[in-house]
Amino acid sequence: MVKRNQATVGDVAKVLDELARPSLAMSWDNVGFLVGHADKPVKVILTALDFSEAVLEQAIQLKADLIVTHHPVIFKSIHSLTSMDWKNALLLKAVEHGIAIYSAHTNLDIALGGVNDVLAEYLDLKNVEGLSGEEGALDGLGRIGILDKAMDLNRFAAKVKKDLGLDYVVTASAGRKVKRVAICGGSGMDFLDLVAAAGADTYVTGDVKYHQAQDAVGRGINIVDAGHQGSELPVINNWADRLALRLTRRELDIKVLVAKEQFLLKVM
Ligand SMILES: [Zn+2]
Repeated sequence: MVKRNQATVGDVAKVLDELARPSLAMSWDNVGFLVGHADKPVKVILTALDFSEAVLEQAIQLKADLIVTHHPVIFKSIHSLTSMDWKNALLLKAVEHGIAIYSAHTNLDIALGGVNDVLAEYLDLKNVEGLSGEEGALDGLGRIGILDKAMDLNRFAAKVKKDLGLDYVVTASAGRKVKRVAICGGSGMDFLDLVAAAGADTYVTGDVKYHQAQDAVGRGINIVDAGHQGSELPVINNWADRLALRLTRRELDIKVLVAKEQFLLKVM
């Protein structure tokens, strides 16, 4: 730390690394302190799911020194940094405003208290375990848990909508009651084998394609597509709270704010 009660971007990045260790991330991922000056003092942090134009505008308005996102602000390698590409134009603008950016992606999915644990809590799942881990282990990207009471898919879909504050969910019914529920925030259909192996009757995730839903139903698994954004947004408030708590414990006077993010996909 620079001085008591003062922290730099580099200091805050270390605290964020504790909340979701970068070593947990998948090998293809790109996480951690990704943009900005490490030695810049931080007074205001803005947390968000995505680094979007709307989020950057809010950061500028709020005079944020650091934006913290779930989706990596730089993911594929970039070969130029110009205004010719909309994403890079946003990056440039952030840099020009002296705003640093930190991202925790699959490490936050996997981490204890991360994307999937928060989602499990929102959906009132009990006896929560990791989808890919050994018994009792909370590793892997997804989680599996049980509902107190079995319910039919319609009722469960209504519950997911209400719990996550969504306008809609999309379902595919395998005709089974919902009790043992697997979850994976974001885009989780690549893990259907794990979901089946774990004996789930229902899988809540996002970005479900038609043929993937068909496959799940064929294998006897109900699908609830809560949307990529809808299934991941809940973690942001929680993450901001936990970051604020850690900073307060270190007697750092830093505001941690949560960006207002609209749902990108809507039903007309
Ligand atoms: Zn995602």
